[in-house]
Amino acid sequence: MLDANAALIRLLTFGGGLVFFLVMEISAPYRLATVSKLRRWAVNLGLTALNTLLLAALFGTAKLALAQHVTQNKLGLLNVHPLPYGLKLLIAVAFLDFMLYVWHLLNHEVPLLWRFHRVHHSDLNMDVSTATRFHIGELFISALITLGLIYLIGADPLSVIVFEASLGLCAQFQHSSLKAPAWLEGLWWILFVPPSMHRIHHSVKIKERNSNYGTIFSLWDRALGTLLTQVDQAGIRIGVGGHFDAGKLGLGRLLVMPFTRYVR
Ligand SMILES: [Zn+2]
Repeated sequence: MLDANAALIRLLTFGGGLVFFLVMEISAPYRLATVSKLRRWAVNLGLTALNTLLLAALFGTAKLALAQHVTQNKLGLLNVHPLPYGLKLLIAVAFLDFMLYVWHLLNHEVPLLWRFHRVHHSDLNMDVSTATRFHIGELFISALITLGLIYLIGADPLSVIVFEASLGLCAQFQHSSLKAPAWLEGLWWILFVPPSMHRIHHSVKIKERNSNYGTIFSLWDRALGTLLTQVDQAGIRIGVGGHFDAGKLGLGRLLVMPFTRYVR
């Protein structure tokens, strides 16, 4: 029952976010596409479907089963002392988001991990479909780490569901190519990650790319000195050096990209 409900929430937030941000992008685009959107969407949604089929079902069940197990057996840091439930949920979500920040930073700094993560950065335009353009290798390792973290912190199933839904929607918003009003960008910056902040992270310039690692909260970048704001947004070129030919960024090429010539 829990599995079915969680799968439904995952499907509704993913599908709802995809349609919502696509409509917003079309009605108020930040930038016009420089390569075929249709082709990019086929590739990005192809990767998403593959990852969902091979990983999401398996790990989705495993994460919830583990969260149920640690809650019932009072395992993990959050179950050492009784805490108000709202606080527990907030700590679990913030902790998982902080560890994702660390993981994302490592994906940029460790050459072996970058081989996989550059598949995400190789998108030549950014839009809501970029949010789920990941190599299955990266998602596999990160799902294993997440299982360890759920155990360590003692996250309950609802915390895991809330974290994953927030993560998905925040990722879709920050990748979307929509012209968010300045007041919303300004307000969102205070706590969260707006599209302008994440656009800098997708720049071909390595100095710009190795900044702004946050997904839900911008606090971690602010506190740990990886926040970059003063960048001419109109001048940002999206992508990874060495992968500028859209014709060579099909699904098959992306799947073997981690095992081909290393591109910093
Ligand atoms: Zn990145």
